[in-house]
Amino acid sequence: MPDIPATLKTYQAHIDGKWVDAASGKTFQTINPYTGEPWALIPECDKEDVDRAVRAAARAFESGPWPGMTQTARGRLLRRIAALIEKHAQHLAEIEVRDNGKLISEMHAQTKYLPEWFNYYGGLADKIQGAVVPVDRPDHFTYILKEPVGVCGFIIPWNSPLMLAGWKLAPALAAGCTVVIKPSEFTSASLLEFMRLVIQEAEVPPGVINVVTGYGAVAGEPLVTHPLVSKVAFTGGTLTGARVNELAAKTFKKVSLELGGKSPNIVFDDCVLDDAVSGAISGIFAATGQTCIAGSRLLLQETIHDKFVEKLVAMAKTARLGDPSLPTTQVGPVTTPPQYRKILGYIDIAKGEGAKCVLGGGPAPAAEGGGTYFVKPTIFTGVENRMRIAQEEVFGPVLSVIKFKDEEDAVRIANDIAYGLGAGVWTQSVRRAHTMARRIKAGTVWVNTYRAVSFLMPFGGYKASGLGRENGMEAIEGYLQTKSVWINNGPGGGNPFIMKTAS
Ligand code: NAD
Repeated sequence: MPDIPATLKTYQAHIDGKWVDAASGKTFQTINPYTGEPWALIPECDKEDVDRAVRAAARAFESGPWPGMTQTARGRLLRRIAALIEKHAQHLAEIEVRDNGKLISEMHAQTKYLPEWFNYYGGLADKIQGAVVPVDRPDHFTYILKEPVGVCGFIIPWNSPLMLAGWKLAPALAAGCTVVIKPSEFTSASLLEFMRLVIQEAEVPPGVINVVTGYGAVAGEPLVTHPLVSKVAFTGGTLTGARVNELAAKTFKKVSLELGGKSPNIVFDDCVLDDAVSGAISGIFAATGQTCIAGSRLLLQETIHDKFVEKLVAMAKTARLGDPSLPTTQVGPVTTPPQYRKILGYIDIAKGEGAKCVLGGGPAPAAEGGGTYFVKPTIFTGVENRMRIAQEEVFGPVLSVIKFKDEEDAVRIANDIAYGLGAGVWTQSVRRAHTMARRIKAGTVWVNTYRAVSFLMPFGGYKASGLGRENGMEAIEGYLQTKSVWINNGPGGGNPFIMKTAS
């Protein structure tokens, strides 16, 4: 482990409205992936800290200002949060880049767009309503109440910490829940800065939002298993998600999972070629491929395969690797050392499987002043869909090109995978666009675009890519309980031993 520079910034966790060290007093370093240098110390929270945070969230849920706040007032609070994110968007983006090495242009675009989630769910807060039901009994008044589920535990990965936490936080607060967030051990700082600059400034009552930092097994699991947590919203790898789901099931928590992907980006010969080439590049090399919706399987119709690959390689070759904090950089470093090793491992696997490497295929020389976690944008052709390089998530700048014959073949290959997060289709045929959108088993299908997201559009996965949906109207349901209320205004009685079903 590198020596600790004297200038290392020290962070604290945020529990019950206060800044606190881990109960154990332990800390760990967070590293700037570009320089490879540690830049901050983060509290290493464990079960005890998680318990304190969950209890604070449970208290805030039951008593104090939060449960008494009207839905309209909650909406106003969310809009205040939105305004503060907007004010600090640049600073928050810079912290993200320092921790995860993604491009400043992408991270700033994310933090500038994030207020929309809080404005949107702020607007929805006082539109959450139940219903009066004309039940099939005389003299009965029956209605449905929508209630917040309670304390929610959020577990966040390292690739887009603020955005992915915001996708959960905005609907949860709108619903009236309280929250404990555990960011990734690789990228804890941005959420702590968010608590300081946004949540404290917005005067969110103590205990409503808590942040505990630490490792998955030590701080994440106690959050998932805590009996006072009613809902777990997890974003991360599929294997971790399966573990989280299993643990959460023991106490019957609501669970939403946003997991991995191996998304097909499908190019037909009737596409606008140059648009599709740009779409294929941005689908895999943006964010250094470290995005769950990376279009990591490029399905090319055989009639345009050679011409397309030629253009693709020519454009990918021009990628400027370097310092992610510079707006001119196009591909940044890989975020974590384990991820770096994993990507290089998959490049070897692909070569071993007989795929042909037509670009890159190994570590990139460190850019000036940069660390060592750079991987060359890599393209493999001759990939068959059964190969590991086509079936497993690499989470790096590695593209697998697979040939297909016709629409039927494209659908078969696209769906022949454990995952189902996203898919791209490039075509000028309206009929084909709609047919493919219907037949592909994925939570999002983009036609003639790729990697677009919005607070208005549900986001989530089929199959091993997850459970539930974030964003849009649908997300709010994940933070609500439904209660049926029956009031008998007539005489009671009847046979006490028989259930009162409709006669
Ligand atoms: P990861 O699964 O290693 O970690 C995610 C989070 O889970 C971290 O906070 C980690 O500390 C925590 N964790 C680890 N083990 C845990 C355990 N046993 N119990 C509770 N928490 C635990 O994932 P990562 O490497 O941080 O992120 C990359 C993965 O995330 C990729 O697979 C990617 O596809 C996925 N991802 C999915 C989406 C989506 O919306 N579908 C978005 C971004 C990333």
